[in-house]
Amino acid sequence: YSGREAMSFFTNQINSMKVSDIKSLPIVVDEQTTLYDAIVTLFLEDVGSIYVTSEGFLTGVVSRKDFLKNSIGGVDLNKIPVGVIMTRMPNIVTITPEDSIIDAAVKIMEHQVDSLPVIEETVINNKHGYKVIGKISKTNIVRVFVDLCKNN
Ligand code: ADP
Repeated sequence: YSGREAMSFFTNQINSMKVSDIKSLPIVVDEQTTLYDAIVTLFLEDVGSIYVTSEGFLTGVVSRKDFLKNSIGGVDLNKIPVGVIMTRMPNIVTITPEDSIIDAAVKIMEHQVDSLPVIEETVINNKHGYKVIGKISKTNIVRVFVDLCKNN
């Protein structure tokens, strides 16, 4: 097993993997959810970011830093909905299930975010939008490396 062979095995394996192969379950709340309830969800679900929807469509992302920034201002966490503080569409960086995991990794790095919502175009009540069907985080990507190294 030469170094070159090992390397091309590695790159072939990684290049053939799609987002749908490694995505995890997204944690999603509605825009009306209060900051307090969203922070509780963050802890209970043990995640760093939460995706936000309205009428089933992806409308935003809210992360640890967003919660911190807004908590030190002395606002009433029970009064403010996540919709007010989230990063909003169309500024959300997304990925689709058919994309390669390399595309996902490049987007995560270039946009300096922890995760990407995996989306699918959908029509609800004659309205077009995106529904959230998964999540790709830095953790998912690291797991691929660990699994490839362990199994070979
Ligand atoms: P943390 O808050 O833990 O540093 P991130 O680095 O993911 O987590 O988030 C940094 C900022 O980027 C936050 O304001 C968050 O709302 C935003 N953000 C997170 N994920 C995305 C994404 N996929 N697309 C656009 N903005 C995002």
